[in-house]
Amino acid sequence: NTKGLILCFGEMLIDFVPTVSGVSLAEAPAFLKAPGGAPANVAIAVSRLGGKVAFIGKLGDDEFGHMLAGILKKNGVSDDGLTFDQSARTALAFVTLRADGEREFMFYRNPSADMLLTPNELNLNLIRSAKVFHYGSISLIVEPSRSAHLKAMEEAKKAGALLSYDPNLRLPLWPSEKEAREKIFSIWDKADVIKISDNELEFLTKTNTIDDATALSLWHPNLKLLLVTLGDHGCRYYTKKFKGSVDAFKVNAVDTTGAGDSFVGALLGKIVDDLSVIEDEPRLKEALKFANACGAITTTKKGAIPALPTEAEALELI
Ligand code: ADP
Repeated sequence: NTKGLILCFGEMLIDFVPTVSGVSLAEAPAFLKAPGGAPANVAIAVSRLGGKVAFIGKLGDDEFGHMLAGILKKNGVSDDGLTFDQSARTALAFVTLRADGEREFMFYRNPSADMLLTPNELNLNLIRSAKVFHYGSISLIVEPSRSAHLKAMEEAKKAGALLSYDPNLRLPLWPSEKEAREKIFSIWDKADVIKISDNELEFLTKTNTIDDATALSLWHPNLKLLLVTLGDHGCRYYTKKFKGSVDAFKVNAVDTTGAGDSFVGALLGKIVDDLSVIEDEPRLKEALKFANACGAITTTKKGAIPALPTEAEALELI
């Protein structure tokens, strides 16, 4: 694979999802294992579309950790940046969409292995060889993974990588809303590309308006591309020179988990070997159309990883 390397940094975990829909966690009769974690989903999205990708993170040296490592490998994601913690366990989440429409979460993270990745454990050669470095925010919450996160970003940037950031706000994980905003903004101006969802736009700007002025209030001088995904309304894009939207594809959505990660992976695959796509509006729109198609397909099947498309599937929808 002669493509440029995309590196995804962050957590991989297992979501336990009730076998029946519309129940609270306490009412669930049993759970299904759904491997995920946003940066890991993005890595597999890139690989399934034919890109070259590695994942950097830490798993527990336990049954779940080895299962997740096996999923990365089976999906063609390099494990050169993967480490195992000998004492802490792999992160687990229990997630349900209750009948009242509210999501309920419970996490095993006290602390989980991903939070214990240290700066010394980073594979610096791998980081320095990346053309694109993509990251999420959960590792930012606590030490030592916060320091590892900051060092990895810095090394990638020094070596000339494009930095791509998706805050992936899972609010129940954060000690407070204030801390979530502060830590997200603490690395905001390091990113070259930022992708947020409409909900994250509202949260970060403390508004309930989704418009250009609100989106552009988040602009920073070094940013090259800001993307706001709008579910079945597609996405908006903003660069220094132009802005606009790309419509979504009409599909029969059954589970939107992983749609944003699929979108990001698809876009990064389209720009890694030619960053000038970002500055050329017709080509950027083509790339975003492809990303929208990948996001749409991901909503048509349950779970995130099993629902990530191949290039042929995306082209067929287009
Ligand atoms: P996130 O998963 O980060 O919340 P979105 O739900 O906005 O992000 O989804 C990302 C992209 O996936 C959207 O921009 C859109 O292209 C596609 N998508 C998501 N939901 C749907 C849907 N119901 N129908 C068609 N496309 C969708």
